[in-house]
Amino acid sequence: EHLYRIQGWGDPYFSINAAGHITVSPEGDRGGSLDLYELVQALRQRNIGLPLLIRFSDILADRLARLNASFSKAIARYNYPNVYRGVYPVKCNQHRHIVEAVVHHGRPYHFGLEAGSKPELMIALATLDPSVYPANDPALIICNGYKDQEYLETAMLATHLGHKPIIVIEQLNELYATVDISKRLGLKPVLGVRAKLSTKGSGRWGSSTGDRAKFGLTIPQMITAIEYLKSQEMLDCLQLLHFHIGSQISSINVFKDAIREASQVYVQLAKAGANMKYLDVGGGLGVDYDGSKTNFYASKNYDMQSYANDIVAEIQEACEGSKLPEPILISESGRAIAAHQSVLIFDVLNTSDVPTIPPPPNGGNDNLIIRNLWETYESINLKNYQEMYHDASQYKEEAISLFNFGYLSLQERARAEQLYWACCGKILEMTRHQEYVPDDLEDLEKIMASIYYVNFSVFQSAPDSWAIDQLFPIMPIHRLDEEPEKRAILADLTCDSDGKIDQFIDLRDVKSVLELHSLKEDKSGLNSDNCSSLPPKEPYYLGMFLVGAYQEIMGNFHNLFGDINVVHIQMNPKGYKIEHVVKGDTITEVLGYVQYDAEDLLESMRQQTEHALQDNRIDFDKSQQLLKDYEGSLSRYTYLV
Ligand code: PLP
Repeated sequence: EHLYRIQGWGDPYFSINAAGHITVSPEGDRGGSLDLYELVQALRQRNIGLPLLIRFSDILADRLARLNASFSKAIARYNYPNVYRGVYPVKCNQHRHIVEAVVHHGRPYHFGLEAGSKPELMIALATLDPSVYPANDPALIICNGYKDQEYLETAMLATHLGHKPIIVIEQLNELYATVDISKRLGLKPVLGVRAKLSTKGSGRWGSSTGDRAKFGLTIPQMITAIEYLKSQEMLDCLQLLHFHIGSQISSINVFKDAIREASQVYVQLAKAGANMKYLDVGGGLGVDYDGSKTNFYASKNYDMQSYANDIVAEIQEACEGSKLPEPILISESGRAIAAHQSVLIFDVLNTSDVPTIPPPPNGGNDNLIIRNLWETYESINLKNYQEMYHDASQYKEEAISLFNFGYLSLQERARAEQLYWACCGKILEMTRHQEYVPDDLEDLEKIMASIYYVNFSVFQSAPDSWAIDQLFPIMPIHRLDEEPEKRAILADLTCDSDGKIDQFIDLRDVKSVLELHSLKEDKSGLNSDNCSSLPPKEPYYLGMFLVGAYQEIMGNFHNLFGDINVVHIQMNPKGYKIEHVVKGDTITEVLGYVQYDAEDLLESMRQQTEHALQDNRIDFDKSQQLLKDYEGSLSRYTYLV
């Protein structure tokens, strides 16, 4: 098993080649592949800077194909007498090229869209062209979320264009509004109800279900809805049952319980006179972020096929038992479709290590506390390192107290700290070769980690890592034929101490450091930035994988780091093609988001410069250099170039 567990989470799309680079096989086991490091180099030569998001539309197509194939297989296996008609929840990643690619690649499967808001409904209606599907059988549009009059009216009127929207009632007042509008328009909409199942979800989104869930009707409310529709002679409109038990469901048993409960609700709705035709099982199909295939929250203990099998088998059993026709099956998988296609690439700007070399000896003239630390350092061995660690920690505490009371000079305190870190370094090295590490030493790895300063914003590009401790696989995309000798955490560009990543995937666990390579001096002469007196470093690129779901739209502009550059790569018989380039924000653009006008800012700077010139506070050349830099920055990328 490779250090970064790439086979577990990356198969079949990501692997390591003989050059020690990551290979991407966007079409899975079927098509061609490309070298990710070489691709990044090629993009940089085209003046597309880092950080950079690379989207592989063939991966998206492959995910859709796999999901549909899993349901087809399950349907064939159980002789299920109806079809699967999945929808993609637009909320998962609304970017135009993605939604268009889902619709394009999903067309053979009649793959539809799910909208959770009015803007998403507008995307869905305009992107799906009903005329490209066989007559009367367009891809579905599932209408979820809060609905006002305009939302409901738009959805209903769109049926005249050949669309097939299904309005899912999430609250009783939506039902009353829907009935009123449908009467006014003289239309009979297809309606669904969202159930609040009592099956408990699991993991971070577990509260999406249960009696206190935000959305859905309780069973008594469903009965009210049925009575009302009956009284309005519209019970035949109610055709769909929907539920959603949360995202990233890591255990298959949670699904099984939910489907069993939902199947019975479905049967009972049919028995109560509703014209039931569809069962929508919502999202939740998990992504194996850590590759462990377990019910750890960053993983899942089932595959797509067993997920599809369980859905098909459970609903079939319930319908057969009640002599009801089996429904069309719908799922709303977002994460499982969109996560794999995006890779975030960023570079390391510089690094900082905790120095573990002891200070030069001082001929026995040191303060007692420093002599104690020296003695500790020198006597550490395999038998006593745990005890020595506690001694060193205690001496360091004492040294700080002495300093605070004025008994140690700044130089002496520095020596004490250096010795303490030297002790920790020596002990850490020993623990790394032991099978068992006492738990009081477990934090040592974290305390001693190098810091790698990286060129991206966690808040913009991986918000879930900050907000909910979501784990994403992170690894270098090159130098994988070299042993990584550093253990590091990542610090991002924002000046927020939360802007860091210090939790990484491990087998069914989280580890606090990531193994990385030391930066190498650059001998090519291509990477000199002219202003640093330090020798230039060879670029070191890291990739954060499986970031295609939810991260982009939830990212924010903390410290005004803007949207990053995005490229779409498509495979073709000659190799790959750069299909689209979506340039990230310039500084002018992010300033505009917070109501600054670039021209006004520049004008203010001009005036300040003129004043300073008049008062002889700046010479002319410097004043013009300042204005040139300021103006130049306005059109620049918000990240370090
Ligand atoms: N359907 C609904 C109603 C949702 O709220 C969500 C997201 O949480 C999804 C589908 C997509 O879920 P997932 O990305 O887990 O497939």
